[in-house]
Amino acid sequence: MHELSIVSSVLDQLDELKKQHEGAVFSKVGLRVGELAGVDVDCLRFGFEAVVKDTHWERLALEIEQVPRRQRCPACSEEFRAENWATTCPKCGETETVVVAGQELEIAYVEVEE
Ligand SMILES: [Zn+2]
Repeated sequence: MHELSIVSSVLDQLDELKKQHEGAVFSKVGLRVGELAGVDVDCLRFGFEAVVKDTHWERLALEIEQVPRRQRCPACSEEFRAENWATTCPKCGETETVVVAGQELEIAYVEVEE
């Protein structure tokens, strides 16, 4: 399952972060997941819970921010939400537009307990 490797990669990054912030207790991690990232968010949530159970990450909450796909038009600089994979510029009709958002798969933030 692809989502499990994402979870373990996120926890690896958090372990690194924890080393740099000794004694810090992470209470929540926010992930930014673009709709083009090819991630099943439900699977990711489920996988996360399964992986952190009975580990030192058990109390860590997961928050997922889903990022919709956006395109930019090189002809008229219009930026638009690509609904239903329609990537043609709504303003000038240009068909060769560029993805500017929706490919994210990254840690957006980490919350630390006081
Ligand atoms: Zn355009």
